[in-house]
Amino acid sequence: MSASNLDQIHRFVFDDCDIRGEIVTLDATLQDATAHQHLPVEARALLGEFFTAVSLMIEVLKFSGTLTLQARGAGRVPLIMAEATDARTLRGIVKFADDEIPDLHGLNLPQMIGEGVLTLTLDPAQGQRYQGVVALEGNTLAECLTAYFARSEQLPTRLWLHSDGQRAGGLLLQALPPSAERTARPDAWETAEHLAETVTADELCQLDHATVLVRLFNEFEVRLFPPQELSFKCQCSRERSLRALTALGRSDAYALLNERDIIDINCEFCGAEYRFGQPDLDELFPAENPRLH
Ligand SMILES: [Zn+2]
Repeated sequence: MSASNLDQIHRFVFDDCDIRGEIVTLDATLQDATAHQHLPVEARALLGEFFTAVSLMIEVLKFSGTLTLQARGAGRVPLIMAEATDARTLRGIVKFADDEIPDLHGLNLPQMIGEGVLTLTLDPAQGQRYQGVVALEGNTLAECLTAYFARSEQLPTRLWLHSDGQRAGGLLLQALPPSAERTARPDAWETAEHLAETVTADELCQLDHATVLVRLFNEFEVRLFPPQELSFKCQCSRERSLRALTALGRSDAYALLNERDIIDINCEFCGAEYRFGQPDLDELFPAENPRLH
């Protein structure tokens, strides 16, 4: 059997009880997003888990805008960050404390990040930005997010995330408020959680979604909705880089130009290079009109 749902996400519902879910597998998206970053396999795998997490969360929240999940700390990996948009595009970065690529072998999430926090940011297309912060409690990202969901006043939600650095797979279950028309099954959530607990990295990364759901939940009636495609895409542009130069201010921007003749701005997410010279700065910071008297 082979995975036929690479770079796809599926929504599903349990027809006979009030549970819904999402299942995702990333392949080219993860490889494209990390192609220009020099990451050891452990860092690619962790970023893969972050990508599956943001893919699952933006979908289950039905959120319009950009959802960002980042962990910051004082360890060998002081920053890891993944972003998903409602157009189902993903991008992310991993930063290291030193210039050298660190040895991350055998380290779990809190050991890589060190003492730190996990931040979830929702930047809506319209309206107020929302940010939630939690301590990095748990050995895996899935455990940290489960704790986060348990603490915030939301519907019971669980995630399972796996990645080997080449592929990543994730599963999310959410209990909905009980509806009158469905048959009451008081133990449904506990049963579904218990069954999902047995999901393996191989199943999530190597099998098609329908097969995984049948294997896990054959005692439920699961209905699968059509899949949605995911891909790597960066939000950077020459205009955004120019805005960064504007923020730097006139004198600092010219000082930088004098040092190097040309200002290179490299996008850390996609490796794009934007180059700016004197004419660009002159246009960005027009000389004030000379006084006539
Ligand atoms: Zn970029």
